[in-house]
Amino acid sequence: MIGDGKVMSSLGPRERLSKDSPYYKATDFRQLQIIKRRKEAAEKARERRERLQQLAEVKTISRSTVTIDTSKAKSNSEVVRVCSEDLGWKELPFGGRKDNCDVHWHAVSFQDNPDIYRGKVNKFPGAGQIFNKVNLFRCLDFMKTLFPNEYNFYPRTWFLPYQYTEFAAEARRLAEKKSRPKPTYIVKPSEGSQGEGIYLLRDPQNYNYNGRSHVVQEYLTNVFLIDGYKFDLRIYVVVTRLEPVEFYICNEGLARFSTLPYENPTNKNLQETFMHLTNYSLNKKSSHFIKSEKDDEGSKRKLTSVLKALDRMGHDSGTLWESIERIVSKTLIAVLSELKIERQAALHGKDAVTCFQIFGFDIILLKNLKPYLLEVNANPSMSIVGEQEVSPGVTQTVPSIKDEEVKYPLIRDTLLLIAPKHKYTRRNREGRRHDGRPKPRLRGQDNRINLADFDKPMQTPNALIIRSESCEESPSSKDEHEFTTTETDVDGNENGGTDSDSSRDDTEQGTDEQGTDEQVEEDEEESCLKKIFPDIYGEEYKRFRLIEKLASMFLTALGLRGIQRLGPTGFRTFSRKCRLNRKGMTNAAIDILYIDMQRKWDHMNPDRSSGLGFHGFLDACFEIARRKFYSPDRLEMFESFIDYCESNLCQRLKEEDIKRKPVAVRTAHKLPRRTVHLFPRTTVTSLEEETVHNLFNHSMFRKLPTFVSPYDINQFIAVKRTETYRPRSLKRLLRTNNGRE
Ligand code: ADP
Repeated sequence: MIGDGKVMSSLGPRERLSKDSPYYKATDFRQLQIIKRRKEAAEKARERRERLQQLAEVKTISRSTVTIDTSKAKSNSEVVRVCSEDLGWKELPFGGRKDNCDVHWHAVSFQDNPDIYRGKVNKFPGAGQIFNKVNLFRCLDFMKTLFPNEYNFYPRTWFLPYQYTEFAAEARRLAEKKSRPKPTYIVKPSEGSQGEGIYLLRDPQNYNYNGRSHVVQEYLTNVFLIDGYKFDLRIYVVVTRLEPVEFYICNEGLARFSTLPYENPTNKNLQETFMHLTNYSLNKKSSHFIKSEKDDEGSKRKLTSVLKALDRMGHDSGTLWESIERIVSKTLIAVLSELKIERQAALHGKDAVTCFQIFGFDIILLKNLKPYLLEVNANPSMSIVGEQEVSPGVTQTVPSIKDEEVKYPLIRDTLLLIAPKHKYTRRNREGRRHDGRPKPRLRGQDNRINLADFDKPMQTPNALIIRSESCEESPSSKDEHEFTTTETDVDGNENGGTDSDSSRDDTEQGTDEQGTDEQVEEDEEESCLKKIFPDIYGEEYKRFRLIEKLASMFLTALGLRGIQRLGPTGFRTFSRKCRLNRKGMTNAAIDILYIDMQRKWDHMNPDRSSGLGFHGFLDACFEIARRKFYSPDRLEMFESFIDYCESNLCQRLKEEDIKRKPVAVRTAHKLPRRTVHLFPRTTVTSLEEETVHNLFNHSMFRKLPTFVSPYDINQFIAVKRTETYRPRSLKRLLRTNNGRE
C-alpha cells in the first residue's frame, strides 16, 4: 500500500493520519513507535521510583554502613553487587549523593564520573593510557636501558610508524642470518584489546599503517604447549595505593587456550587466528572452542589447574609463580612515576578521593617455562557470563562457573582491602558468614560455586600463600588485612577507630560473641590476595625506583598542580635550579634540547597539547646525563645526574627557606662575625647570585689574591643587601675596596 502511488496521492495529510485510513493501518511503524515510547516512559518512571526510593533509603543508611556506588559499573555491576551484598554493604546502583559513597565502582576509567569529591574509586586517573601497549613498552624499554639483566621479560618491541626504519633494518638483518628460523613479527594496535587488529608478518613491507600507532614485537615461537595448544595466563593484580605503593597478587586467575593445535608460523598459517592468538573473545567464536566445567579441560581454565598440570609434568610451578610475581612488581615499578603524575594532575582539588585498581597481566610461557609479559590490561573483564551456542548460529549468554570462581573472590577481597577501616566493623563483617563458610550467593539464590571444592586443600605452588576459600589457611597471612589499623597513609586512607558508631559496635559485640573473633581471624585468612609489594620485593627492588625521583622533580618543575606537561620556561627554570649551567649547559643548549625532545616525543602526544610530557622529560634528562655525566655504565651515569640535580634542588630549597626569614635571623644564622665565607650566597637577597659570585671571585680575588678581610666581604654584602643590583654601583664599590687595600 505504501508503494501505491495512487492511494497515497488521493489522500490528504489529515486523512492519511486518521486511524481509518488504509495507509495508517498498513504502517505498523507508528504503532511500534508508540509502543516503544510507552515502554521507555514506563522504564523511566520505574527508574525514577527506584531512585527516589533509594534516595529515601540513603537518608536512613546508618553511618557505619559502607556504601558502594555501582551506577557506572556496567558489565561489572553483577559481580560487584553480589560481593557487596555478601559483605553487608549498601549498593547504590543509581549513584549516591556526591559526598555519600565510600566506594565508586567504574567500568572503564576514573573519568566515568568526574563529579566525585570523596571516597575510593576503582580506577587510577589515566591508567588506560598509561597501560596502553606503546606507553607500557616505552616505560619497560627505559628501565631496560638502565637494568638490562632485570627487564628482560618481554618480547623485543618497536613502535610503529615512528620506528619503522629501525624495525625494517633489523628485520632485514635478521632475515639475512640464514641459521635462524625465519623471524616472524606480531603487530598490535596500541589501544587495541581482545585481539582486535592484530596480525602476523614476516616482511616489514606488509605493515599496514592505518592511522593508528602500533607496537610490533618479535613473535615468540618456542612457547610452552599443553596438549599441543598454545595458551596464556591472566594474572590479576590489585594496586591499593600509590603513596606508599602497595600491591597484591591474586592466587587464582585464568588460562586461555587457542582452539587450533599450535604449529610454528609459516607463510601458509600466518593468518590462522585460532592457532596463534589465545584471546577468549576470539576463540569463543571458533567451532573448536571447548566449554567445560571441569577444571583441567576446556579452552578456558583456571590458573591453578594449569599450575597443577605443570607440577604433574614434573615442572616446578613454585619457581614459575615467583618469576611471575617478579614480573608484576618490576612492571608496576616501571609505570609508577606516570601513575603518580597523572594522579597529581587529576586529583588536584580532590584531596579526599583515593584510588585503587585491579589489573590483568597477560603472561605467556616459553618452552623452558620462562614467563614473558604480553600486555597489562587496565580494564580486565569482570564479566561472569559466557556464551553458548544453543542452535547453529544462535548463541545465548550463560553463567560461567570458572569466571565466577575466579572473579567473585577477587572482587570481594579487593573490596575488603579497601573498605573504610572505621566503618568496616565486626558487625558487618559478621554478616557475610553465618555457618563458618563463605556465602557465594551469585545471582540471587542460585549458588553455582562448587562448595565441595572449598573443603579440599589445594595443591599450589610453594611461593603462593593460599588463603582463598578453596585453600588451606596460612599462618603468615594474618597481618595482610588491617581491618582495625589506625594509621593514616599519605594517600589519605581513613583512620580507624575514630568513628563513634563503629567503636560502639565493637563494644556491644565484643563480649558475648567469642566465636566471632575466631571467625574474624578466619575471615582475614581466607583472602585470595597476597601482598607482594612492599612486603616481599620492596627492599630488593628499591634500586629500580630511580625514575620516581625524577618524577618528583618533574612535578616540582610543573609547579602548578593540575597540569602534566612542562613548558620551555619550566624546563629552563628546572635546569637553572639544578645548576646545570655550571656543568656547561648554556640556556641556548637547554632550549635546543627542549625543542628536540618535544619533536621526538610528539608521537606520544595524540591530543597535540603543548609542552613536554614525562617521557620527553626523562629522555631529555638522559641526554644531559649522557653529555655531562658520561660513564660507560648507564645506571651510574644516570644516578650521578639525579644526585647532582637533587642536591642542587635541595640546596636551593634551603636557600629559599632561609631567604624567607627576617634579615637579622639570616645574618646571625649564616654569617658568624669572624668567619670568612668564601661566598655566603644565602645572605645576598637583592642581587643575582651568579653575578655577585662572579664579581666577587673574578674581580676581588683576582686583583687581590693575597688577602681579603672579613670586613670587605661583610661590607660588600651589607651594602648590596639593601641595594638593587646596578652594575655601576657595584663597580664603584669594587673600585673603592681596591683603592683602600
Ligand atoms: P590484546 O590486548 O588485543 O589481547 P595481546 O598483546 O594480549 O593483545 O595479544 C593477543 C594474543 O596474541 C595473546 O593472547 C597471545 O596469544 C598472542 N601474542 C601476543 N604477543 C605475542 C608474542 N610476542 N608472541 C607470541 N604470541 C603473542
